[in-house]
Amino acid sequence: MHDHLSLSRRSALIAGAAALGSLYTGRLAAWAAAPAAPSVDPAEALARLVAGNKRFVGGTLSNQDGVTERRLALTGHQAPFASILSCSDSRVPPELVFDQNVGDLFVFRNAGNFVVDSVLGTLEYGYSALGVKLIVVMGHEQCGAVSATYDAIANAKPLPPNLDAIENGIQRGIWPVVAAHGSKQEAVLANVRAQAEKLKASPVLGPAIASGDCKVVTAEYRFDSGAVDVLT
Ligand SMILES: [Zn+2]
Repeated sequence: MHDHLSLSRRSALIAGAAALGSLYTGRLAAWAAAPAAPSVDPAEALARLVAGNKRFVGGTLSNQDGVTERRLALTGHQAPFASILSCSDSRVPPELVFDQNVGDLFVFRNAGNFVVDSVLGTLEYGYSALGVKLIVVMGHEQCGAVSATYDAIANAKPLPPNLDAIENGIQRGIWPVVAAHGSKQEAVLANVRAQAEKLKASPVLGPAIASGDCKVVTAEYRFDSGAVDVLT
């Protein structure tokens, strides 16, 4: 059934693209030519991530072997089973935190793990073209981007140009926490919840989330333990 839905979606992509010109059509056709790897359902995908994080916490990474073989096997296609939106923080590398290998995760990282159009487009591509049915929005404790945005709001002193783009992406979600003089830890959690909520506005992801075909979970990474706490 999943294969059938996936094929229908790909056909729709190609049909719609026909009106947009041959170049675009060619690109979408290339997407549609991706292998017919069966989609991993959201529950199974989350179980894989949770199991991988347990190995990371326990210092027993087991999925990092065979990188060269995996790379060579995936030269013509990819079939990741989960999408991750996480912070650029160097201490939170998704492939390590979840003990996954080349080709397993479809990842977007920015400082503060916030959703903007390019993130939506990336995650929509992951769902529509690659069949990724689980999206994890993962924040982490002591996030510098959230902290800087918190201070900018509290002190009414906007961040400098370019950094203010980060502030703009985060501020609405954490505003209630700042207004209530809440903690920065509370702001981190409010941020991941707010960013996950934004995904529902996507014309591609929104209906998929509503139908249950795509699942979004929020999570927080802990530096001390290495654990990823699944929040929803
Ligand atoms: Zn961060």
